[in-house]
Amino acid sequence: MTGQIELGLLVAQVQKSFGSHKALKGVDLEVREGEFFTLLGPSGCGKTTLLRIIAGLELPDSGHVFLGGQDITRLPASKRQVNTVFQSYALFPHLNIFENVAFGLKARQIGPAEVRRRVADKLEMLSLDDLGKRYPHQLSGGQKQRVALARALVNEPEVLLLDEPMSALDAHLRAQVQEELRRLQRELKQTFILVTHDQDEAMVVSDRIAVMRDGLIEQVGEAREVYSRPRNQFVAEFLGAANIIQARRDGGQMVTSLGAFDLTAAPAWETGHLAIRPESIQLGEPPADDRNWVRAQVCEAIYRGQSLDVWLSPGFGQDNCRVRVRTNAKNHLRPGDQVSIFFPPEDLVALDHQSDAR
Ligand code: ATP
Repeated sequence: MTGQIELGLLVAQVQKSFGSHKALKGVDLEVREGEFFTLLGPSGCGKTTLLRIIAGLELPDSGHVFLGGQDITRLPASKRQVNTVFQSYALFPHLNIFENVAFGLKARQIGPAEVRRRVADKLEMLSLDDLGKRYPHQLSGGQKQRVALARALVNEPEVLLLDEPMSALDAHLRAQVQEELRRLQRELKQTFILVTHDQDEAMVVSDRIAVMRDGLIEQVGEAREVYSRPRNQFVAEFLGAANIIQARRDGGQMVTSLGAFDLTAAPAWETGHLAIRPESIQLGEPPADDRNWVRAQVCEAIYRGQSLDVWLSPGFGQDNCRVRVRTNAKNHLRPGDQVSIFFPPEDLVALDHQSDAR
């Protein structure tokens, strides 16, 4: 184990079944100390089950969880240096905000002066200083969410687990809380592990993301890496819009129905699929060496404010509008316009179909 991982969290070969359903099929994971790590995946892929095993709220059937080099697999939740913020916030309705945040400290028999100091510190950090005497039902959703965070952070856990904590907030507030959460984590330098099915949220807050599918981890990496170099079609499509193009390797080139493409990194396979993000495809005038350029006709142009999404038909039939390009909203393209598009070799990613097929 590396030094950083000795201090961080390690999940080794964790399996968990509910009846005949295998929720986790042998998960391996390394979370570094002080990083913001996100478990991202569709509903039912096992994210919450994995989080609950890390929290000690669920026992794995097999495998181990280590924190700071210590095997905590069978350590009760209350003895772990781990706190969880749940989707529902789970605030105590009969306690005011100060008492809600102080609850864990009082349970650990910390003296009243120290409790006051620590609670005041966290309330201030989360801009809740004026709300200490209010009760949960007197707060907005965003405020309740911040109280839940303060209540978890006041215990100074080594790892803070966040189980879809922003899903009950409206889109505007969610965006604001995501940025706050990121700022808070950078300030505290504590290890945060977030569970979400929202890829934009994952990209905004995370140092690294693990993309999960069907009880296993498909890919782990920085947001930029998993977005721009997806391992397979599942990851490519889960993280955003992607053009998926069937291809056959012929010497150094990839032969597709759009034409022959050069790639920076050639795949190991003979036939498979390439992926490219809509914003990576460029519109322009082909140079004399028109490798990776394709002529196409605009089928549809959708104005999105910040960008223009254009569906294109390579060649010129209207029945084959399968290439999606995201371009500058200042471009005034209309159905029927003819354009040239460039597929940069470094942005064409060869997908690993074996991992898709499992
Ligand atoms: P979501 O985003 O919808 O919360 P998730 O990725 O967090 O999904 P889990 O809650 O971990 O998924 O569930 C994984 C699978 O295990 C699902 O098929 C779920 O129905 C099943 N499951 C989870 N907990 C239990 C349980 N206590 N009893 C039976 N099945 C369960």
